[in-house]
Amino acid sequence: MCDQIKLVEQAGAELIHVDVMDGHFVPNISIGPPVVRSIRKCTDLFLDVHLMIEHPLDYVEAFVKAGANNITFHIEAADAAGAVIDKIKSHSIGAGISIKPDTPVAVIEEYINRLDMLLIMSVEPGFGGQSFMRGALDKLTRAQQLKQSGQLTGLNIEVDGGVDVDNIKEISRAGAEVIVAGSEIFGAPDPAQRFKELQNLANF
Ligand code: ZN
Repeated sequence: MCDQIKLVEQAGAELIHVDVMDGHFVPNISIGPPVVRSIRKCTDLFLDVHLMIEHPLDYVEAFVKAGANNITFHIEAADAAGAVIDKIKSHSIGAGISIKPDTPVAVIEEYINRLDMLLIMSVEPGFGGQSFMRGALDKLTRAQQLKQSGQLTGLNIEVDGGVDVDNIKEISRAGAEVIVAGSEIFGAPDPAQRFKELQNLANF
């Protein structure tokens, strides 16, 4: 795992996005705080932890201790969003909210002033390797409008799911500022080369 992280770090990656799944909010189970801690030992890059879990409030502290620089949780998860933001912010790290493909941007508007990250899911959360859902493009544009009208300079608009060399330019133009790619990079014969291709296409 460290080898792959070093590889994208040397290629110019600005952050490492870590998907955490609990087997409840999404059917799969993936890594927890111990794995985040071991990633932290591999790199000084910004660790962007995406919690696809049902009770984010209960786990904020564990992921902070593991080395997260930003924690993003789902608005569709069971806990009150304001309380989760408070808890994340109490540890002086970034707080983000993610919305699933069927959730409109409108539901996060009341929290947007307090967010460092707004993550638009462009696939159903829980599985890697799915195709990009084009409905995310309009949501990125809407999120970018909200950012600009509110002069929210500290907010990053992020997209996650199905990003590839054919769609990244369009995604970037629609308003995405932080773009997550997993399978597209690590499934490529030369991940560092693919990373650079994606980066060039995103910086249109
Ligand atoms: Zn993610």
